[in-house]
Amino acid sequence: MANFETPELKEYTVVPLPMPGVMAHSSPFVAKPDHQAQLGFPGELVDNWQEVAIKKLGELTQKYRSLQVYLDSCVKCGACTDKCHYYLGTSDPKNMPVARQDLLRKVYRRYYTFAGKYFPKLVGAEELTKDVLDDWYAYYHQCSQCRRCSVFCPYGIDTAEISMAAREIMDAVGKGQKYCNEIIGKVFKIGNNLGLPEPALRDTLSDLEEEVEDDTGVAVRFPLDEKGAEILLVTPSADFFAEPHVDGLIGYGKVFHQSGVSWTISSHASEAANFGMFIGSYENMRDVSMRIREAALELGVKRIVFGECGHAWRVAYSFLNTLAGPFDFLDPRYPVPQHICEFTYDLIQRGALKLDKSANDDKVVTYHDSCNVARASRMGNMPGGQFFIPRAILKAVCNNFHDMSPDTIHENTYCCGGGGGLLTDDLMELRVKGALPRMEALKRVVDEYGVTHMAAICAICKSQFTKVLPYYNFSMDTIVSVHQLVSEAIILGDHQ
Ligand code: SF4
Ligand code: SF4
Repeated sequence: MANFETPELKEYTVVPLPMPGVMAHSSPFVAKPDHQAQLGFPGELVDNWQEVAIKKLGELTQKYRSLQVYLDSCVKCGACTDKCHYYLGTSDPKNMPVARQDLLRKVYRRYYTFAGKYFPKLVGAEELTKDVLDDWYAYYHQCSQCRRCSVFCPYGIDTAEISMAAREIMDAVGKGQKYCNEIIGKVFKIGNNLGLPEPALRDTLSDLEEEVEDDTGVAVRFPLDEKGAEILLVTPSADFFAEPHVDGLIGYGKVFHQSGVSWTISSHASEAANFGMFIGSYENMRDVSMRIREAALELGVKRIVFGECGHAWRVAYSFLNTLAGPFDFLDPRYPVPQHICEFTYDLIQRGALKLDKSANDDKVVTYHDSCNVARASRMGNMPGGQFFIPRAILKAVCNNFHDMSPDTIHENTYCCGGGGGLLTDDLMELRVKGALPRMEALKRVVDEYGVTHMAAICAICKSQFTKVLPYYNFSMDTIVSVHQLVSEAIILGDHQ
């Protein structure tokens, strides 16, 4: 385990006194020249980086008018200061959302406002120096772009967008982050974040078929590249091998099997995750999204269903049609795209799945709302469907369910601590400390209701919790996939 102290769990989350600079050392590894080059960014910090960064900032405020509004409209009311899990977990005041925004705002003011140009001290405007750039690199990689602060800001200022813009500027000057940029490159080269090539993927899926048949006696298929299938499943590549993700994939397979609808995974688009969003690059987000369109056309599918992945669902729900549409070749009777939870919930509603809830009687379950699903997307055709549908599924497959406290769920949910491109071992201290508010909320339901498992529908949340739960003395298998619980309860047999 990394060398730092795990925060102590308190009965209720306490707002800490600010301790300036305590996380100044926390910076992720910088991308190597070839990671940068494959995304079209300079390999290393360019000589005229100040000039390039200032120009890029100006371009971005013109391109994304929301960014300019966010930079112009903060009134320093302070409502956001205690809303970020990274501030609550680290005490570093630069992790207060308003302070994080100000790192970019002060430079914007200096070069793009009248008052900042002529009276910089009066309006808190500052030159872009190497120290400022280093602060950007450290603290814009201590924001998981979870958008919790924006829920509490009276002006709706979205720090996540400011953070994305800052990362976009840093990529443009040649100071990108290794973890995100290396991964995006793997998607372009091989098709998924893990760099899992087609033969390995085929073997993995065929092993899963054997495993499920040994377990249940039923031949549930996990098809790859099957032309003419009705549904293309686009799922995070962690679903192919990581725990508890793979148990979720087994659940999707069983649900598809029972529905009687043919489906396939694509080796060309074997990744739902789209890290282009984390680095603020719509160009890269579009290139990753286009692979899904290409796979859907190539395989001749009629529908696209996304597996359990938080930010992937945000990109899919909010941007897929704009980035890679029109999807007029798909069946218009279904939403494009559809979430696996919507698919399963619809079957449950129609009585098309036989479920034995008692199969999960050894568990008392709670649910962690993942940020990008909760605050940046929706499910079903009702407001709040993204909160209701996963819980309705859990209640259909488990007898024992208890929510965590209201200030920590739904749109108030706390980030797992590893979102936004921060799920890397070089940020372990940040990840553990950032998980504090969620761990405290979990502990309360563990103590009050005997909760044993926390379900989630995000691959990053699942990986992050698997790693950080032991730091807080919870077992790593406390975290489960929603469709893992569906998988336990589903009775395989004749289609309903
Ligand atoms: S978006 Fe989330 S991580 Fe970023 S400053 Fe706001 S609350 Fe913190
Ligand atoms: S809540 Fe909004 S307006 Fe108030 S300080 Fe934070 S960002 Fe500024």
